[in-house]
Amino acid sequence: MGLFDKKTCTGCGKKIGVLSGFFSGQTLGDGSKLCGECVKKCSSELRDADFKRMTEADFLQHVVARDEDRRRYAQEFVRTRTIQSGDGALGTPYVYADDTHGWWVRANVNDPDVFTYKQAAGVMVESQTMTLSSDEDRRRREMEWVQLYNSIAGGYPGVPLCPPNKRITGLKVKVTITGHPFITEVNIPVSINATNVQMLLREECRVVSEMVQFFMTLRMQG
Ligand SMILES: [Zn+2]
Repeated sequence: MGLFDKKTCTGCGKKIGVLSGFFSGQTLGDGSKLCGECVKKCSSELRDADFKRMTEADFLQHVVARDEDRRRYAQEFVRTRTIQSGDGALGTPYVYADDTHGWWVRANVNDPDVFTYKQAAGVMVESQTMTLSSDEDRRRREMEWVQLYNSIAGGYPGVPLCPPNKRITGLKVKVTITGHPFITEVNIPVSINATNVQMLLREECRVVSEMVQFFMTLRMQG
């Protein structure tokens, strides 16, 4: 496809050009195109590969389901639990749970998907890492940090330690989703403080561990 080829968005019928969603758009599995605006109507949890599995009919079904999600979240969702790092209003929330309905959503995202407890089929934690500096002074400081991080992370089940010669820059709680027509995985990123502020590191490790335990026990409650 040439850069100036015009395609029509299957969602809204508008022409997709270089200036209108050419780069923010998606191509579905059946070859139909979505403009950037119509992609925004979809769940933010959808990856490129998820779009590739969708047809035009799937997209239309998904948009209806998203509207129902918005309605449920606005009108029915009762926040009974918050998983967050830090205290109270100053903390950073990651997950809101509704134990009454057996629903959960990601906190801190616009327009969240409402998942049932049963849809959380598994959880794992992935770490983002950087190689330790080759500069001796920097490396010594980084190793001190790694030691501190590992001593804290070791006390929280499910939180990975730094691999040899690496330091962890962030953790990603990856929740496997089952029983959803299009969403296969939800990623909840937690950035890891690079300074030696123990309190922050401890809270970041604790909240990751709390999420792991939360998602591990969900299916039994769902
Ligand atoms: Zn569109």
